[in-house]
Amino acid sequence: EREKLSRLKHTPAVTLDGQKIELLANIEQPNDTVAALKAGAMGVGLFRSEFLFMGRSGQLPDEEEQYQAYRRAIEGMQGLPVTIRTVDVGADKPLDRGAPRSDDHLNPALGLRAIRWSLADPAMFLAQLRAILRAAAHGPVNLLIPMLAHGSEIRQTLALVQRAREQLDAAGVPHGPVKLGAMIEVPAAALTIPLFLRHFDFLSIGTNDLIQYTLAIDRADEAVSHLYDPLHPAVLQLVASTIAQAREQGKGVSVCGEMAGDVTLTRLLLGMGLRSFSMHPSQILAVKQQILRSDTVKLAGWAQEVLRADDPAALLAD
Ligand code: PEP
Ligand code: MG
Repeated sequence: EREKLSRLKHTPAVTLDGQKIELLANIEQPNDTVAALKAGAMGVGLFRSEFLFMGRSGQLPDEEEQYQAYRRAIEGMQGLPVTIRTVDVGADKPLDRGAPRSDDHLNPALGLRAIRWSLADPAMFLAQLRAILRAAAHGPVNLLIPMLAHGSEIRQTLALVQRAREQLDAAGVPHGPVKLGAMIEVPAAALTIPLFLRHFDFLSIGTNDLIQYTLAIDRADEAVSHLYDPLHPAVLQLVASTIAQAREQGKGVSVCGEMAGDVTLTRLLLGMGLRSFSMHPSQILAVKQQILRSDTVKLAGWAQEVLRADDPAALLAD
C-alpha cells in the first residue's frame, strides 16, 4: 500500500470533476522541507517557528539566527511558497525558560500564548518579523499570525509588520514582499471572519485549537479526549462558514490542523469548498488518493446534509 501511494507523488491533485487541490506540508524545522518535497508537497502551509524557540537552555534565537533558519526553509522549497507562522509558544508548547510554563498558570491555553506573547514583547516580535521579511527576499513567503481574536490585536500586529519593514528600509537591509494571513483557531475569530478578510490576504484554519476552544476540551488532557470531536456540529459550522466567506471574497483559505491530514475527513472538507490542505508530510499521499476519487459537485450537496445533521459522524460512516 505504501508503494502504491508513493507512485502518486507526481500525480497532480485533481478531483474527478477537475478541481485542482493544493496539498501543503506542515514543518517544524528547516530540514523538514526534505520530507515535504519527497511527499510531493506544493509548498509549506505551516512552518511552526516556535520549534526554533523551544528546548533551548540559553538565549532565544536572535534575528540573524532566525533569518538563516527561514532562509534555509525557503531555499529548501526551491521556489515553492513557504508559510511562516510567528511564534506560538505557551499552552501545549512551553519554552524551557522565560516564557509561560504550563504549571505557572491556571489556564495556560487561555493565557499568554502565541500572538499575545509576541505583542507583550514588541522588541522580540519585531526581530522575528524582520527575520521573516529578510528571508522573503529569497523566495515566496506567506506570513501567518496565530491565535488572533481581537480587532486590537490585528491592528497592533499590522502596525508592527509595517514598523519592521520601515526599520529594514532605514537600515538599507534587503527584504521581500509577503502575503499576510491569520490563523482562524479561536471561535471569536471564526465568528468575525469579515473583519479578518478586511485586513488579511488569506486565512488558515487551525482546527486543533478551534476544536479545543469551541468545545472547551483541553487538547492535551486525556481524561476528556473522548469529547475532543472534530465532527461536533458546532466545529463543522465554524469551519464551513470560514471557508465559504473566504471563497466568496476570492481569498485563499486552507486548513492546517490535524483535520486536513485525516483521510476520513477529506471528502467532507472538499464538500465544504476547501481547496487547500496543509498537513504532516507523511499524510500527503493518502489525502491525495482520496482527492483523486472525489467529485466536489456531488460532495457539496452531501456536505450540506452533514452540516445539518444531529450526528454528522453517522453520515460519514456510510
Ligand atoms: C491548530 O491549532 O490547528 C494548528 C495548526 O496550530 P497548532 O497545532 O500548532 O496549535
Ligand atoms: Mg493552534
